[in-house]
Amino acid sequence: MRRRVILLGPPGSGKGTIAARLQENFGFNHVSSGQLLRREVELDSAVGRRAKSFLDRGELVPDQTVLELMERWMDAMPPGTGFLSDGFPRTLSQARALDEWLASRGQAIDAVLFFNCPEAVMIERIAGRRVCPQCGRVYHQVTLQSRVAGRCDECGVALVQREDDTAPVVRKRFEIYSRQTEPLVAYYRAQGKLTEIDATRPLDAQMDDVMSALAK
Ligand code: AMP
Repeated sequence: MRRRVILLGPPGSGKGTIAARLQENFGFNHVSSGQLLRREVELDSAVGRRAKSFLDRGELVPDQTVLELMERWMDAMPPGTGFLSDGFPRTLSQARALDEWLASRGQAIDAVLFFNCPEAVMIERIAGRRVCPQCGRVYHQVTLQSRVAGRCDECGVALVQREDDTAPVVRKRFEIYSRQTEPLVAYYRAQGKLTEIDATRPLDAQMDDVMSALAK
């Protein structure tokens, strides 16, 4: 199975949910750059202080800061371990830096899964999205409910709505995605690594597509 995998797609395309399933069922090391950044903000670390205003506005955190954080995360993994990256890279310069960073270690990205999702669908999904502030697990008020309403299945703590999941910030995040992140689709397609997943299909059908892409 392919082990160094990138999940690409607009906010609300369901990448995080698929990533959680892959982690649970197949032991992937799931890393979400957004989750790492939110943790740094909570810790009020130097990285967190640099990132906070960008997160609040729904804008991308500068490449340098994100690369520092992600390289630290990847360096901490045991050698030869794979990863499933959700939300990183998000710009062409991050993608090129990641390729160079991996090449310097004799490694490369194995597969990129592109979750294609129209804006209207993702806005509706994000409105009902709730997350666990402790473990980052993602739920939906209608389509992916927790066992006890409003509480995380794993941690039991109260679920919250992300501050950047409000309508005006979500629209801005989608605009930024179209401008800065969508060019990565062509970048990875040209490398022959991209598989497109229809993110409007039911979760189980998407998982089947994901599994066949990763088995190739
Ligand atoms: P996410 O949880 O992936 O939706 O990310 C939440 C927020 O974190 C984004 O709106 C950005 O402000 C920031 N962020 C996450 N990943 C990146 C990245 N790779 N580059 C720049 N900013 C990022």
